Formats: sequence, structure tokens, C-alpha cells
Amino acid sequence: MISLKSFITDQWYSGQDKPTQLFNPATETVIAVTDTSGIDTKAVLDHARNIGGPTLRSMSFAERGALLKAMSRALYAERERLIDVSCICNGATRKDSKFDIDGATGTLSYYAKLGTELGDGTILTDGESERLTANARFVGQHVFLPRPGVAIHINAFNFPAWGTFEKIACAFLAGMPVVTKPATATALLTYEMIKIIVDAEILPAGVLQFIAGSARDLLDYADGQDVIAFTGSADTAHTLRQNASVTLNSARFNAEADSLNAAILGPDVEVGDDIWYTYIKNIVTDMTQKAGQKCTAIRRIIAPEAIADDLQAALVEELSRITVGNPAHDGIRMGPLASAAQLRDVRDGIDELAAHSSILTGGSAPIAAEGVPDGKGYFVAPTLLRANDGADDIFHSKEVFGPCATILTYDGSAAQAVMLMAKGKGCLVSSVYSNHKKWISEALLQSAVWTGRLQLVSAKVADSALPPGMVLPNQLHGGPGRAGGGEELGGMRGLHHYWNRTCIQGDTALLGKLLK
Ligand code: NAP
Repeated sequence: MISLKSFITDQWYSGQDKPTQLFNPATETVIAVTDTSGIDTKAVLDHARNIGGPTLRSMSFAERGALLKAMSRALYAERERLIDVSCICNGATRKDSKFDIDGATGTLSYYAKLGTELGDGTILTDGESERLTANARFVGQHVFLPRPGVAIHINAFNFPAWGTFEKIACAFLAGMPVVTKPATATALLTYEMIKIIVDAEILPAGVLQFIAGSARDLLDYADGQDVIAFTGSADTAHTLRQNASVTLNSARFNAEADSLNAAILGPDVEVGDDIWYTYIKNIVTDMTQKAGQKCTAIRRIIAPEAIADDLQAALVEELSRITVGNPAHDGIRMGPLASAAQLRDVRDGIDELAAHSSILTGGSAPIAAEGVPDGKGYFVAPTLLRANDGADDIFHSKEVFGPCATILTYDGSAAQAVMLMAKGKGCLVSSVYSNHKKWISEALLQSAVWTGRLQLVSAKVADSALPPGMVLPNQLHGGPGRAGGGEELGGMRGLHHYWNRTCIQGDTALLGKLLK
């Protein structure tokens, strides 16, 4: 069994208290323990601010990009071993594990290239300088400067690889040192990845620190030049936002929270159209990939009443082909949920939704999973529901973070589709499937304001469109309202959280030299 260590002040550290156990969610065997007791969290933040920050800020974008490239390469070299770790630590199939791990190395690599493109400078100007008076020499110039604090990253359990490194990539390239903390339940994979980076001696001192589990009182010491980037539930985001470091000290807080993502089928789509098949495929992928534990997964299937019976039949048929079992075994399409707590939450959530809907397939009852000891593992069946009343608030407010989605029917009008979509109060991503130009023009922009990313699938892109649940480094990730109101990634946009924008006024010749 592995005992996870934290990497703080450039040393490995083990707590001395009662450790927390981590389980293989397929077999329920203990695979690791971790303990973060005794960590001097204030010293951790000071180390990043005093040692890591100045070093990173003195490096050019190209040099910071080179660090990211080296990290990506070191992790990629151990890809096969990391996939095995992922399977036992968070219940991900090999395919799901690649999605997470390749997402991490791919995002590091994307930002490494961006660093090369940004070149030898250390800071960026924002727009052109502007003349302010009759004297042409006196100008104002906006400039982005890396914050002289620390980026505190708090991640969710479902993407222990990608979630950690997509945040690190942006912070490092922007010029901020990082203290990162994965969710305790799946911290083993993150630990193995951080160990690879540390052992490869890629990073300068103080640039990266890792807390292998509970963050303890870390946020209490955050200051006004720090950034807290959080991914997790809306409830935890609500708690953390109220920390005095945010409310009094103005530490910058970015939240990526939960989301009831919608997939809206237009009234023009018929059974057998290309778009129809894309719709079915995307829903099934989102429900079953990572056992539905994706913040971007489709939860609300918004479809015209007239086609709903055909849709439910097609989805039930596809879902019946999903083999559920030990993700380490070949042929398994869906693994377990990541923890016993998740299993409890998902079963309760299904029951809550089922009180207002019909269960078309699946449900909350225990299932026999393949390749595991009898009765073991945190498994739940892919579960499709059909709402009694699509406008019922429960379907727009209760996120069941597992392989569960609900068909909500509407009358085919753009107005009703948008009304249902908006009831989710803000999504990370949603998708609209139609070829009907007038209907699209009514539905698209009205629904777009309720989501961070909106995918329009029409006949011409039906075979090339990516599944909406896929997050890309050059596209925005985040969403308004309930989704947390935050933004990550999106190419250069992802660096902005780690910068202050300052307007500097003075002699144009002098500023030109200083801001090179
Ligand atoms: P969670 O329970 O909110 O935990 C998220 C993180 O917050 C974990 O690392 C957790 O650490 C930490 N945390 C909890 N209380 C804390 C505190 N008082 N101080 C500092 N850190 C604290 O969420 P989860 O169960 O891991 O993830 C599932 C949720 O995340 C779902 O609702 C999903 O929609 C959302 N999610 C959103 C996105 C997105 O990009 N928007 C991505 C993935 C997941 P411990 O584990 O050590 O308690």
C-alpha cells in the first residue's frame, strides 16, 4: 500500500496523525493512505511567494513554456503506468484514463507552444498606448503583470490528472507559482504525476507545491495578490467564497462548479437523420464516460414531445449495450463511481429524480458488475429517466453526478426550449441540434447567455462535431451562475486570472523601454 506524501517547501512530507484511506472503487480494497496533518500552510504559501514567484517572473514566456514542455514529456513517458494507476484509483476505464491523462499532457503541451509564440518578453501590454494630453509624449499604457502571490488550486475528484495540470499550465505560463491540492479520494494519481515532475528535477525551487489531501487552513492565509482557483461542487464553492481571504483581502476567486448541461433537439430533426445519430451518440458518451462523473456531461435531454418515444427507445437500446465492471478489464465500457460517498449521493439523487419521473432503464438498485468480487464496488447502472413534467424545478436544480440523465419534453417552440434551458441557472456547456435556420436563430443566442460554451450541431458538421463534453485548451471552460461564474483555459484567456491589469501613465519613450 502506498503512503502519499505532500511536496512542500521543496521536500516530501508525511503527516503524523491518523491517515485517511483511499480505496479502489471497483474492489473496495485500500490502495493508499494519506495524511496532511501538521503542514504549516502559512509557510507553504510564503515559500511560493518568496522563492517560486520571483524565479518564475524573471523567466521569459518562452522559458516558462519550456518548463511546461518538459513536464508534458516527463508525464507522457510514463503514460502506461499512469493509466494503470488511474484505473485503480478512480474507477476509470483505460479509455477514460487516457481522456484524463492525455488531457493533462495535451494541455501542458498546448500552453508550452503558446509560451514559445509569446517569446522572450516577461510581461504583456494590453492594447496600444494612448495619448492623453496635448503633449504627445504623455501617454497611458495598460499592462498585464503577474500577481506577486501564489496560485492555490483546489480540484475535484473526477479529473485528478487533467484538472491539476490544466490549471498549472495557465498559472506557470502567466508567471505564478502553484500550491495544488487534489480531492482526497482520488489523490493517488495526482501524487504519482507530481512525483514524476519532482524526480525529473524540471522545476525551479518553490514553483510547485502539492498537498496530498485535506487543505486544512490553507485558505485562511491567502492574501490580496493570491489566486484561488477552485473546481468542485457549488456548495463547497459557496463555503470557500465566504473565507475572509476572499471577502476581506480580495484574493481572486475563480469557481468551476456543477452544472446541469442541456442537449436540445430541434423540432425539425427526424429519426434517422445524421443529427439524430449524433444526438444519441453524444448523450450515451456523456452518460457513460467516466461513469457520468464529468462536470460537462449532458444531464438534461430536452426533446420535442412528438419524438420523445422514439428517442427513449433508441437511448435505452444503446445503453443496454454498455458493459459495467472492473475498469482494469478489457471490454468494460463503464467503471464504478469514484467513492462510497459518491455512490450514496448518486443513488439518493436518482431516487429523488425518480419520484418525479419514470425510470426507463437503470435505477438506484445495486447491480452485478463484471470482474469484481460479489457485491463489491461502487457501481450504478446507466440510468435514463423521463420527467413527468419537464418544467419541474427538480430536474433543473438537482445534479446527479453519475451516469444519469433525464428526458424533458417540450412543445417544439424555441421559446419553450430556451425557457427550460435557462431554468438550469447557468451551465458549463450545452448543445443544440437542428438544421432549421429560423428556429436556430430564435433559440441559439437566447440560450447562449446561459452557458459558457454552446455547440450547434447541424447536418454539415454532424459527423465532425466533437462531443460537447470535451474541454479543449484553446476554448473557454466555465459558465455563468450555478456553474460557478468562472472561466478557465480558452488560450490566452486562461492566463488572465493570474495577472493584474494596471494602467501606467508617463513618457512614451521611457515606458516603451520599460515595457519591452
Ligand atoms: P467537492 O466536494 O466540492 O470538493 C472539491 C474540492 O474541494 C476537493 O479537493 C475538496 O477536498 C476541496 N474542499 C472541500 N472543502 C474544502 C475546504 N473547506 N477547504 C479547502 N478545500 C476544500 O467536489 P467533488 O465531490 O470533489 O467534485 C464533484 C463536483 O465537482 C460536482 O458537483 C461537479 O459538477 C463539480 N465539478 C466541476 C467541474 C468544472 O470544471 N466546473 C469539474 C469537475 C467537477 P477533499 O476531497 O480533501 O475534501
